[in-house]
Amino acid sequence: MPETYDFIIVGSGPGGSTVAYRLGELPDAKILVLEAGTGDLPEAVSVPWRWNELLLTDLDWAYNSAPQPALNGRRVYSAAGRCTGGGSAVYHMMHVRAKPADLDAWAYNGCAGWSFADCLPFYQRSENQLDNLNPTAGKGGPMTIVNARDTGNPVSQTFLDACVELGYPLVQDFNATAFGCGWHHLDMRDGRRGGVLTSYLLPAVARGNVTLKTQVRATRLLIENGRCTGVEYLENGQTVTARAEREVIVAGGAMETPKLLLLSGIGPADQLQQHGLAVVHELPGVGENFHDHPLLIGPFGRMAEPGADPRANMTEVGLFWGSEPGLPVPDLEICLVHRAPFGDAFFANVVQRLQTGQPVASVAQLVDPHVILTLPGLVRPLSRGWVRLASTDPTVPPDISCNFGAEPADIDRLVTMVKIGRDIYRTRAFQALGLVEVGPGPDVVTDEQLRAWVTDNVGSYYHFVGSCKMGIDRLAVVDNRLKVRGLEGLRIADGSVMPAIPAANTHTTIVMIAERAAEFIRTGN
Ligand SMILES: Cc1cc2nc3c(=O)[nH]c(=O)nc-3n(C[C@H](O)[C@H](O)[C@H](O)COP(=O)(O)OP(=O)(O)OC[C@H]3O[C@@H](n4cnc5c(N)ncnc54)[C@H](O)[C@@H]3O)c2cc1C
Repeated sequence: MPETYDFIIVGSGPGGSTVAYRLGELPDAKILVLEAGTGDLPEAVSVPWRWNELLLTDLDWAYNSAPQPALNGRRVYSAAGRCTGGGSAVYHMMHVRAKPADLDAWAYNGCAGWSFADCLPFYQRSENQLDNLNPTAGKGGPMTIVNARDTGNPVSQTFLDACVELGYPLVQDFNATAFGCGWHHLDMRDGRRGGVLTSYLLPAVARGNVTLKTQVRATRLLIENGRCTGVEYLENGQTVTARAEREVIVAGGAMETPKLLLLSGIGPADQLQQHGLAVVHELPGVGENFHDHPLLIGPFGRMAEPGADPRANMTEVGLFWGSEPGLPVPDLEICLVHRAPFGDAFFANVVQRLQTGQPVASVAQLVDPHVILTLPGLVRPLSRGWVRLASTDPTVPPDISCNFGAEPADIDRLVTMVKIGRDIYRTRAFQALGLVEVGPGPDVVTDEQLRAWVTDNVGSYYHFVGSCKMGIDRLAVVDNRLKVRGLEGLRIADGSVMPAIPAANTHTTIVMIAERAAEFIRTGN
């Protein structure tokens, strides 16, 4: 007899854990959470500034993209969490909500009920912000939100002094004021990583009605007469069936969620037929519209003296700005990492991991205390890509492409950010630390050279979204209640449903989406 639950949730990342916690509040609900990764997490997960040690290990899916045509055919390394908590267990904890114009645009494009005003109560429901700098911040929610300023590193303060010296306004809270420089608010509790594992998933499991299975991979959604009735998953090499009497909620992230739908015969008919899969339910948008914020690592700078020890998430400060005046939301985000975990040896590790598929040693020993770096992220990218099945073997990663740089304006705006990063390093504030730029370096000067450097170096911000988008157009996969269109008993609650990426880091908005998914289910919508 198959195991039977009321709800089955695929994935324990921000989407899945949040839904598990809220559905678990229903005392009579019996819930199964399936997680492909491990639940056995190293101490480095809990220490906020040690996130660099988690990349490329077994906790990272470490995808390698398809060759990117606009990047001279280069493939791009794409990190994603593979463990309890998903990306939340490896993320940098920057807590940034979507801007009002981001969500209002979702509503304008057909996602009725998803304006910023509609979504605000669900951001608030998730938050317990300890300071009072944002009048709309939530209090009493599961996620503790602290101000990085409270434990700030002196080099982070220098970054803010430099931005102010250049004329950028100082912002108290990025979730209250969109444009300017400031300290990030962080998802941390008592100096340790917060994340959905501690704030949502473990408390949900502790209630007793949520069963969490780790190292089990969902391989197929069972569809009977237009209704999703359960999930097949791999456990110790055996295929196991679990039945859902009420709903299945897929939250595998923007790469794995479309892959699971495709493996289940839900997607574009031609792609399914090409792989010899029966078309169970045709939905042409599955895997389309996949996108991310493109990110540069650099410019790098070397200080005359070693910086103070790492604090908080090492990425405590940032500058959100517009590439041109008149934009409703910033399209540029430049953060500072005050102890650079990257360098040639790190990139050598990336190549080794992607070529061998084997996790590599920790990168902790690669850190140089003199070196800092800016992380320029383009937060309103125009390029769009796709996720496709590479094989019908569920253990094979999907083909992914964000099509980075396909829209030339994306490359132009990354060049703008390199120039801003250089200006920041040249301020009196940073010159007082004896800062010298070590990358891109003195040979990269003209716009043409900068474009070439950006093309050779741009990568992923690991903010994957959009591949099962919400909406009403031909390519929409879910409706505004996050139900897979044309099927019963199946919802999606992760980054894949975003129609367009917000001008913000994505974790906070995915938790908000999942809060809403649970509310729709609980209220019978
Ligand atoms: C290194 C890094 C740093 C980041 N920093 C920030 C930051 O500072 N701020 C921010 O806002 N965002 C940040 N992000 C992005 C953020 O973590 C992601 O947007 C978010 O985790 C995505 O949530 P999700 O629920 O869509 O999917 P995921 O987090 O990817 O969770 C999906 C989960 O489902 C599991 N899964 C997948 N397929 C299956 C299957 N078939 N069966 C069972 N389980 C499955 C996965 O293992 C995973 O645990 C960062 C991401 C990374 C990787």
